[in-house]
Amino acid sequence: MENHYDVIVAGAGLAGTLAAASAARKGMKVLLLDKNKESEPGKKTNWGWVCGDAVADSHIQFIRKKLGIEFTKEELGQPVEGVVALSPDLKSRFMFDGKGYVLERPKFEAKLLDFARKSGVHFIPEFDVENPVIEKDYIVGVSGKDKTMKHMEFRAKVIIDCLGVATNLRRKLPDNPYIDKTVDIDDMESTGRYIYEVEIEKEDLNYYDPKIALIHLNQVIAPGGYGWVFPKAGGKNRINIGIGTQKSSIEARNKALGKKDTLHSLMDEYVKSIPIIKSVKLDNSDNNGKGYWSVAVRRQMESLVYNGYMGAGDSMAMPNPISAGGIGPALISGVIAGEHAANAVKAGDVSIKGLWPYNFEFNEMYGKKTACMEAFRTYMQSLNNDLLNFGMKNFLTSKEAQEVAYGMTPELGAISKLKLAAKGLSNIEAFMDLVWVINKMKTLNSIYEKYPRSPDDNFVEWKQSVKREIEETQAKFKPHPI
Ligand SMILES: Cc1cc2nc3c(=O)[nH]c(=O)nc-3n(C[C@H](O)[C@H](O)[C@H](O)COP(=O)(O)OP(=O)(O)OC[C@H]3O[C@@H](n4cnc5c(N)ncnc54)[C@H](O)[C@@H]3O)c2cc1C
Repeated sequence: MENHYDVIVAGAGLAGTLAAASAARKGMKVLLLDKNKESEPGKKTNWGWVCGDAVADSHIQFIRKKLGIEFTKEELGQPVEGVVALSPDLKSRFMFDGKGYVLERPKFEAKLLDFARKSGVHFIPEFDVENPVIEKDYIVGVSGKDKTMKHMEFRAKVIIDCLGVATNLRRKLPDNPYIDKTVDIDDMESTGRYIYEVEIEKEDLNYYDPKIALIHLNQVIAPGGYGWVFPKAGGKNRINIGIGTQKSSIEARNKALGKKDTLHSLMDEYVKSIPIIKSVKLDNSDNNGKGYWSVAVRRQMESLVYNGYMGAGDSMAMPNPISAGGIGPALISGVIAGEHAANAVKAGDVSIKGLWPYNFEFNEMYGKKTACMEAFRTYMQSLNNDLLNFGMKNFLTSKEAQEVAYGMTPELGAISKLKLAAKGLSNIEAFMDLVWVINKMKTLNSIYEKYPRSPDDNFVEWKQSVKREIEETQAKFKPHPI
């Protein structure tokens, strides 16, 4: 029975450490596996902890209240007053998210792992999870290689997949109508991220603000995504700088401009395009200076559970489809996945039905707005810089934009509609498209209000209805960066 557990958590990142800790605190015998060395908890890839590391204070408060974890400024890093998105011409700015932090990620993750171990979790580092063990349509364990390359198998009543965006557990599930095994390439953002100490030539708060996480919307510089400059603690003018891009948008942009840019060349161009930076010095502490990775920006998987299986964080495509912020949902889902796993084990039912309450709670707490945000993201990717400039100035007030970013659907104010009158055909078309997409967002929100209470509650039909609305949106708005 040595290799038998109540719960196995695969992946000791944000979602995984919290899922393991919360299951253990509910009395479960928990095994946590990660391919990283013990000294590098939560490192996503050989490239490092590739992330912007911006997180809202409300998400930190959530885990503090739920689990009692206290953080110091060593882990929380740089406090910020909010996230500001700037139009390509830098003339419009919308503020989102409120107070938060740009985390010192390696230290933050080390704290979470330490907390999981103190909660009684058995942790095995340097273990590469390769496959789910499947018996009679149930996931009953995982197999993989330990640090000596020895093949091993571990079994549990529930497996929680927290392997991040490249998970090889979700991708190897049996064919099923609940969880998509793949993510469409158009729903992925390819990202680059550097950590620099920079010498600033002159102050300009549109490019670097020590109190604000800045986002630059610009379809030439970051096609289908955005660039960011986030301030970091621990030194003067230390920054986390990066871009997110969509492959189809890069291709369309290169074709229109006769260029051959790649993610890597666009990343370097973005750094050069920040006019106030006089010189940069790579901060390669923890080998975390330069990295490239991906983030899924679709709605989370319609079901997060299968027989004996749950998923949390990036393995389930949880990042916010507009901002790509995935730390918050990884923290929330990690905590509640661990709790629901323990409830199901105690109730003796780890079937899809037994694990379903996790689906329902995540939907209520976070998930029910993401499909509508995905529709808006698809619309935004169809706007070139001129339309983004015009739209951010005329279409939405700051309050309306904030509502959209939180997955709400504003009634577009009479003023913005009036301002629009007689200002060019393409702008009017873009405005009519905005009205269209906001209606679509309303429809998606109302579908998610009726999230099935159990897998038998017409889930397959419900999922089809979501897919239909999303596909209609994708058919209407194609990537159009130039
Ligand atoms: C460039 C970039 C910028 C971002 N910026 C932000 C931001 O500013 N704010 C924000 O909120 N979100 C941001 N995100 C998203 C955020 O980083 C993720 O949503 C978050 O890290 C998800 O946490 P997770 O625990 O689900 O997965 P991960 O952090 O990916 O952790 C997965 C864990 O699984 C382990 N693992 C993977 N495969 C295996 C295997 N086969 N065997 C064993 N272990 C394995 C890994 O070692 C890792 O420890 C960004 C993402 C990127 C790529």
